[in-house]
Amino acid sequence: MQTRSIGALDASVVGLGCNNFGGRIDEAASKKVVDAALDVGINLFDTADIYGGTRSEEFLGRSLAGRRDRALIATKFGGPIDDERKGGASASYIGRACDDSLQRLGTDRIDLYQIHFPDQATPLEETLGALDALVRAGKVREIGCSNFSADMIEAATRISAEHGWARFVSVQNEYSLLRRGPEKQGVLDACGKLGLAFIPYFPLASGVLSGKYRRGEVPPAGTRLAGMAADRQEQALSDAVMNRVEALEAWATAHGHTLLDLAFAWLLAKPVVACVIAGATKPEQVVANAAAAQWHLTEAEMADIDAVIAEAKER
Ligand code: NAP
Repeated sequence: MQTRSIGALDASVVGLGCNNFGGRIDEAASKKVVDAALDVGINLFDTADIYGGTRSEEFLGRSLAGRRDRALIATKFGGPIDDERKGGASASYIGRACDDSLQRLGTDRIDLYQIHFPDQATPLEETLGALDALVRAGKVREIGCSNFSADMIEAATRISAEHGWARFVSVQNEYSLLRRGPEKQGVLDACGKLGLAFIPYFPLASGVLSGKYRRGEVPPAGTRLAGMAADRQEQALSDAVMNRVEALEAWATAHGHTLLDLAFAWLLAKPVVACVIAGATKPEQVVANAAAAQWHLTEAEMADIDAVIAEAKER
């Protein structure tokens, strides 16, 4: 497994998203997924305090017991947990959220601590000062942001530099072959310019890019989409989406690969992308995802893929 830098962290190019832990899968199944990830050379595990109603951090922490040093733990704060822990990014909330995450994870340090969503009610300066204090205290190694715009990323980088504080080393936003907002909104360019690592979330569009959903067919039993309401299923598998999925799958097959391989290879062909944190519910998914990173696309192939998508959109 190749690695890329996220600040001082040397992260495997395929990571594991842990938002199924404590939600769709229980502790035993979560541990099997973590075991498989470590076995194939994945070292970055992305979770959040809110995932699985805080159980994701607990399951991950216990799954890593005795082998913590083989893992980089990326977690997030700021989302609402319950009536008492309403989230946000104020200094007082961050201090408590970090201690709570450390306890749930059963560790003395978080490798990458990310603000989950922008908090309009708190000045960015207050948030960054509090995060810097956590880095100085040794509770956090690197800090990152999620769901930030290009302007916010630039502002945060400027504020940290002015104060000599720890700065964001990563940005985690939605990005995949089907959702290319970070290109259009200038987020990838901002990351490239400022030297931040980009971590795409929903890299498989919740599994649509795994190739297991077919046009006009009911989602297979036990899959994420099978558990969704009919209107959300329809949206996820609309004709516009399936036009692109089918065209991309045909292109991948013609090149001796699967659609899943293409979803990873395409993201990793972008130098600014550091780690693809696909979620998984089964060990075999993790194995397939790790293998997908071995396909390296050329510039000509990337241009070809853009043409395939453009043509599918016009249909
Ligand atoms: P995703 O990676 O796009 O899709 C994950 C789903 O795809 C899995 O649950 C699994 O579905 C399916 N899958 C994965 N590998 C597969 C394979 N090899 N073959 C067949 N199916 C496969 O979506 P995600 O897990 O929601 O997102 C990834 C991570 O991003 C999360 O775990 C989380 O850490 C992070 N995230 C962050 C934010 C944010 O605001 N920062 C938001 C969302 C997610 P089944 O469940 O059907 O088995």
